[in-house]
Amino acid sequence: MSKSEQLFQQAQKTIPGGVNSPVRAFKSVGGTPVFIDSANGAYLYDVDGKKYIDYIGSWGPMLLGHNHPAIREAVIKAAEKGLSFGAPCPAEITMAETICELVPSMEMVRMVSSGTEATMSAIRLARGFTGRNSILKFEGCYHGHADSLLVKAGSGALTLGVPNSPGVPADFAKYTLTAEFNNLEQVKQIFAEQGADLACIIVEPVAGNMNCIPPAPGFLEGLRALCDQYGAVLIFDEVMTGFRVALGGAQAYYNIKPDLTTLGKIIGGGMPVGAFGGRRDIMQHIAPLGGVYQAGTLSGNPIAMAAGLAALTEIRKPGVYDLLTAKTTQLIEGLAAVAKEVGIPLATTQVGGMFGVFFSNEAQITNYQQATQCDIAAFKRFFHLMLEQGVYLAPSAYEAGFLSIAHSDEDLAYTIAAAKKAFIQLKA
Ligand code: PLP
Repeated sequence: MSKSEQLFQQAQKTIPGGVNSPVRAFKSVGGTPVFIDSANGAYLYDVDGKKYIDYIGSWGPMLLGHNHPAIREAVIKAAEKGLSFGAPCPAEITMAETICELVPSMEMVRMVSSGTEATMSAIRLARGFTGRNSILKFEGCYHGHADSLLVKAGSGALTLGVPNSPGVPADFAKYTLTAEFNNLEQVKQIFAEQGADLACIIVEPVAGNMNCIPPAPGFLEGLRALCDQYGAVLIFDEVMTGFRVALGGAQAYYNIKPDLTTLGKIIGGGMPVGAFGGRRDIMQHIAPLGGVYQAGTLSGNPIAMAAGLAALTEIRKPGVYDLLTAKTTQLIEGLAAVAKEVGIPLATTQVGGMFGVFFSNEAQITNYQQATQCDIAAFKRFFHLMLEQGVYLAPSAYEAGFLSIAHSDEDLAYTIAAAKKAFIQLKA
């Protein structure tokens, strides 16, 4: 038995499912998870001494590669001055100013400790600001695990939300309306019927939790226009896309200005961080300025701020996004080419440093329905064939992939060659 298998058995005795976040358990691909000992650059090293080229990047934050020296040193330096103060510290101001400079729609920002906290707080703020209860989200978009966001569509877009987790009262979920991603007509219809009750739309501007699905041309623009027309708040959940698809996030990439933005992942440089911010007149409703309550023991934590600031200092250097995008294109084009050569139907997507690979005959995947119709069994086999060859992909067909600038040409070439071998085996 490998050390990972032993550890997984041990973990399951005291940790539900052996993991602290469900997808890590490999349930949707089968097998048992690999336990990681260390990470550096583009690589993960497991407890059995095996090396992997990593395409998860801690689910997004590791845009510069693992254990980046500038971030590590900033953390050590900050730690020497204390781990948490529970009082304001200068690094919080630098962080707020940096975020507001790089994401101009954010005129004020509040730091939190996770993406979930960021979206939950942004929605409470949108409700407090508008005095309305209902929110609209999209099928297949994930915004963290706050109660009102763990809701999937009913049979039709206009039906009331039904919770998709036990423990979420139906009474909470009824305020969460859902529509199909990229279906602007459906959103228009919902607004026509219930626009006066809608506090906000929350959307992943590039959907990254049903694989990677870019917005159709005009979709985000349409959401912006509807929010303006009906006085609803437009929230871009950029926890994943922020500083990933472009320096200013998806809003810079597509040139759309949301009212509120949520961030996480990259802005923490690997430490637990989230943030929400946006229009000053809306943000002024947050306590202690306004009545909408929001707080956090470790919010603005000095170590997390130091890590995040070091990460942002590095990634805003000229050329980082061109390099990241070029590497991602190289990978995606390589995978598509070998799939074609072997005769495996494969659709691919890419926005900046984020990508999707779908086992499907469809030329384009645009929504959750289509994403779930892909050949999931083929993905599962592909995942394990790649893992065996030392390539660590997300253990689910519904996750976007992430590159870092630490991935070398050799890493990409190795990955493409490994994929070709895997495709040949899939075909056999
Ligand atoms: N929003 C989006 C778009 C996400 O992808 C995630 C997590 O993956 C979250 C929110 C929740 O963030 P966290 O896991 O830090 O709570």
